[in-house]
Amino acid sequence: TDELLIKSEKLSVVGQLAAGVAHEIRNPLTSLRGFVQLLQTKTNNYNEYFQIMLTELDRINYIVSEFLVIAKPQAVCFEMKDLRKILHDVISLLDTQAILSDVQIHTIFDSDIPLINCEENQLKQVVINILKNAIEAMTEGGTIEILMKVDDNKIVIRFIDQGCGIPEERIGMLGEPFYTTKEKGTGLGLMVSQKIIEAHHGSLQIKSQINIGTTVDLILPLDPNR
Ligand code: ADP
Ligand code: MG
Repeated sequence: TDELLIKSEKLSVVGQLAAGVAHEIRNPLTSLRGFVQLLQTKTNNYNEYFQIMLTELDRINYIVSEFLVIAKPQAVCFEMKDLRKILHDVISLLDTQAILSDVQIHTIFDSDIPLINCEENQLKQVVINILKNAIEAMTEGGTIEILMKVDDNKIVIRFIDQGCGIPEERIGMLGEPFYTTKEKGTGLGLMVSQKIIEAHHGSLQIKSQINIGTTVDLILPLDPNR
């Protein structure tokens, strides 16, 4: 197989700055958390306030850690891979979460999907993000359908969920950092996914209808020298 090892660049200058800031925030945060905990054990009053302070400190820490993961330089390894296997691996990874949410995942993959040159771990991240969003949108359960086919000189992976949908005026905000409608969301998943897909010269297309569901198309070009 064609193996290409690239020392990846950090996402951007902004990404590098963010990583630096994130790192700097962590030390004072850890120290603050320690003092709040200490006060909590020494004082009998204000216990619920301390609890809120700890929860909020943990949330800042969580967001900062996410940032560090995104901006961290990683060895990127492009190799010829089977997308059907990548999809099946991710589906089995999310199996428990799907079952707990009463969600069935149904796949229809064409048998003639060629191998494509891609970064397997990054593509898995993208598929995890898309599927988690779908599961999280389906609070009443239901079925997620995943279709994969070759169309012209590209591979189209279509994820169809039966979730809450996204209002039309919000579609444009998807992929903006920190845009989230979830209490525990970070609003970073789609941003990272878009960056990864761009690095594969592909695209993500999202269509949605309120209370009917959302369709996400992950489109990847076929290898031109195949
Ligand atoms: P997060 O999942 O942390 O909120 P994402 O970047 O993954 O961040 O998604 C941003 C927002 O886009 C979500 O909070 C949600 O409002 C919306 N969204 C994404 N995917 C779906 C989907 N399949 N169904 C409904 N809403 C979605
Ligand atoms: Mg998400």
